[in-house]
Amino acid sequence: MGSLPIDLFNPLDNENFVDESSRVLEFIANYYKNVENYPVRSQVKPGFLQKLSPNSAPYFPESLETILGDIQTDILPGLTHWQSPNFFAYFQANASTAAFLGEMLCTGLNVVGFNWISSPAATELEAIVVDWMGKMLKLPQSFLFSGGGGGVLHGSTCEAIVCTLAAARDKALNELGADKITKLVVYGSDQTHFTLQKASKLVGINPNNFRAIKTSTLTSFALAPDDVRATMEADLASGLVPLFLCATIGTTALGAVDSLEGLGQVAKDYEVWFHVDAAYGGSACICPEFRQYLNGIELVDSISMNPHKWFLTNMDCCCLWVKNPSTLVDSLSTSPEILRNKATESKKVVDYKDWQIALSRRFRALKLWLVIRRYGVANLMEHIRSDIKLAKKFEGFVVGDERFEVVVPRKFALVCFRLKPRRSEEDGSKLNWKLLEEVNSSGKAFMTHAVVDGTFLIRCAIGGTFTEERHIDGLWKLIQEKAADLLLFKNGCNIEE
Ligand SMILES: *Cc1c(COP(=O)(O)O)cnc(C)c1O
Repeated sequence: MGSLPIDLFNPLDNENFVDESSRVLEFIANYYKNVENYPVRSQVKPGFLQKLSPNSAPYFPESLETILGDIQTDILPGLTHWQSPNFFAYFQANASTAAFLGEMLCTGLNVVGFNWISSPAATELEAIVVDWMGKMLKLPQSFLFSGGGGGVLHGSTCEAIVCTLAAARDKALNELGADKITKLVVYGSDQTHFTLQKASKLVGINPNNFRAIKTSTLTSFALAPDDVRATMEADLASGLVPLFLCATIGTTALGAVDSLEGLGQVAKDYEVWFHVDAAYGGSACICPEFRQYLNGIELVDSISMNPHKWFLTNMDCCCLWVKNPSTLVDSLSTSPEILRNKATESKKVVDYKDWQIALSRRFRALKLWLVIRRYGVANLMEHIRSDIKLAKKFEGFVVGDERFEVVVPRKFALVCFRLKPRRSEEDGSKLNWKLLEEVNSSGKAFMTHAVVDGTFLIRCAIGGTFTEERHIDGLWKLIQEKAADLLLFKNGCNIEE
């Protein structure tokens, strides 16, 4: 039996802490330096890691060299490289130095600020930073702590929507009686993120009472207020109770924008909770030229957006603001004896455990605070604008090639395009699916797809932290090459499938 090197077993030995974390830093810096050289979409097969891994935990400690070596040889090939400048799939997950520093501080200090007294600065900094963000977005005073509302940092939009939906449900059931839960109806569009349906299920909404109202090219895939009104009327006529309406600023598939002004009026007329999901598009709204998409925000009850997508904030970070925090707290609060304290009883403090699902929570505010302080609003706007510029350039390439077309009008930095169908729509879908697969399997770039109204399209989501003009040029060249091969193959050999 080997001997346990107990001298190593001091989990927070200061000298070792500095030495080993510096080596990990170096490893990450080196990864960033080379990230462009890896195939963007991982090429491993399911179960690949099981084959490379011992099947039980080591009894004795291993060296950091060995572990970092394994990460290099076994883990990196199994990553899809979200930080690659050639990653154009889903939506980008921005990383930045400032956010990394904030994340290090958060994990290093490792406090658990579930209520004010458990770490007063964690709570107060979060309130300050969400108010800052709210002001950057020019949200009405009523969403800020200084104006009687307030915000919180969640890990994801999914959590934010579950919490607001629970608040809306309980507010309604307090008036209607708990047995009416089967009557409550939730409204979004067929472009609303699937998380709304999941959240509805989680908070006990009857699955038959979820309305994904159809959108079309006529409104550029925005939810039409008249359609919402008609759907609510029909529900009321059959004895149901409209509860919650979700609008989106920058839908996931297409980047479409719902009109808050039009929908807000409907929400008001039918007294439903009106939430805005600005997970992707919200970041852009700090720029005056995009702020118009939030016109009508005064008609809204809650709004969420994800700094972890397009706001240089490493995973995870979602801001949620509510006009009436007491509805959220009424629904989510708990007051166990073990957490009783004077600050809470004074009612002068925020206890964030009552604004979220979990009890324990990370000091996420440090991360967003570092990003805003280190970059300043000026650079954050520049960050958005430079991505928009790249997206315009890519869009120009598509428009300038008669074999291609832009499928839906671009609002942000997401370009939805396809090869024009040559014979039938079905044929066009097959062709574009093949084109996308050719691009992705080359390892040189990674994009994803969407299907709307039976039309298959390719989504090019621009906005990675490392993405520059040359990557957009390279991407277009790659797409053109692959398309030329496909079209030649189809015509030359006259192959039909
Ligand atoms: C990405 C996205 C979500 C999901 O965000 P999570 O933080 O991953 O839960 C929700 N809505 C929209 C519009 C999105 O683009």
